[in-house]
Amino acid sequence: MKDKCGIVGIHSNLDKNVSSFVYYGLYALQHRGQESAGIATFDGSKMHYHRGMGLLTDAFKDFDFNFLHGNKAIGHVRYSTTGDSKLENSQPFLTSLNDQHIAIAHNGDIINSSFLRDELIEEGYEFTSNTDSEVLFYLIKKEYEKTNNFILTIERLVEKIIGSYSIVILIDDKLYAVRDPAGMKPLSIAKDGEDYMIASETVAFDVVGAKYIRDVEAGEIIHFKDNEIKSHKVKIANSIKKAHCVFEYVYFARPDSVMNGQDVYKSRLNIGEYLYKGYKIDADIVVPVPDSSIPVAIGYSRASKIPYAEGLIKNRYVGRTFIMPTQGERLLAIKLKINPIKSEIEGKKIILIDDSIVRGTTSQSIVKILREAGAKEIHMLIGCPPIIAPCYYGISMASKKELIAANNTINQIKEKLGVETLGYLSIDSLVDSVGIHFNDLCLACINEDYPTNIPQK
Ligand code: SF4
Repeated sequence: MKDKCGIVGIHSNLDKNVSSFVYYGLYALQHRGQESAGIATFDGSKMHYHRGMGLLTDAFKDFDFNFLHGNKAIGHVRYSTTGDSKLENSQPFLTSLNDQHIAIAHNGDIINSSFLRDELIEEGYEFTSNTDSEVLFYLIKKEYEKTNNFILTIERLVEKIIGSYSIVILIDDKLYAVRDPAGMKPLSIAKDGEDYMIASETVAFDVVGAKYIRDVEAGEIIHFKDNEIKSHKVKIANSIKKAHCVFEYVYFARPDSVMNGQDVYKSRLNIGEYLYKGYKIDADIVVPVPDSSIPVAIGYSRASKIPYAEGLIKNRYVGRTFIMPTQGERLLAIKLKINPIKSEIEGKKIILIDDSIVRGTTSQSIVKILREAGAKEIHMLIGCPPIIAPCYYGISMASKKELIAANNTINQIKEKLGVETLGYLSIDSLVDSVGIHFNDLCLACINEDYPTNIPQK
């Protein structure tokens, strides 16, 4: 599973360049997207920008940050779920309107973007990318052109678009941030002296020393003005409820982030404790599939008093691997990324903790690796319920026919993986672990209760 994008914005009234701070904020969000990166700044009269492909260090290799001049800036790291991986699709997107400069960076997925795109093309808009973010970009431009009022623009946008969107927008020296009415994608605000910062995750604040204030609320528009934050809540239809993505806590977010007021690391420890309450297994060691399952395994180990062991080591320098057609080649790709410590594994009864199972192919390979290393028993516990439905909100997952739990019983999955035990966390335990009310979470990929309509095109 891959998330789509991380965003950062900084607003300062001091005479300084903030682009390097945006860069370091994006660095902390690199896990949210590695395909491209970009920063746009406004220096009082001109917009400057730079975008490049790959990791932040590649996109900004040998780059002179003096070029990105200005005390207001936004930035973006991208992972594509719509649109190809190419420079035209990288963000921020830029345009100008009646002598004003506009830059936009977006995290999320617009489900009805193909309908809206067709409408915009009929009206004469020319697209340079094939992303839904550019659809959003033109819709904002179009409404802003009519109203010259950003709040009204967003009010109209909310009526039109279906999907998830956390957005940062620079209109000359005005910095805005918007979170969709369901609050699916995260967005938080921090302060550093008189400067304000906004980012997908609070880890971006930590790296530059800004202090987290609060999250942007679902359906809230934030306008950073002088030394203040102006807040405006958009009118939301009764049918729209809050739906924070639960997988941010299970998998996507960094464990050192705080999201919607909840400590992600603590949520994962709780998941481990709940797994122990559900599955009390006689074993020698608790082993996580690194990295996101590490706190879950620690939680299980603390609750059970069974020693935690690093039985699998992740090679963090492996980039994208090709899609391997055969099981043997897939095993090779996994071995590149994960290697066992034989002395920890051999002859042991292992509780193997993973955050989720999507297709099941990675889990099969990991079980094989552990067996080859001499594991005596493998009891696999999963830190979320079975994933039975696809995500339409910006998580690159799989189609329903590829999801192993959508097409097999838990017993059948256990047989396919070749493990002694297979246990999933229940939905109730997951919700309790995260600490957010059931009604305020999106759980659609595990209960098929989608928080929005899903257009059929
Ligand atoms: S469907 Fe699943 S992955 Fe997608 S937003 Fe909802 S909870 Fe998150």
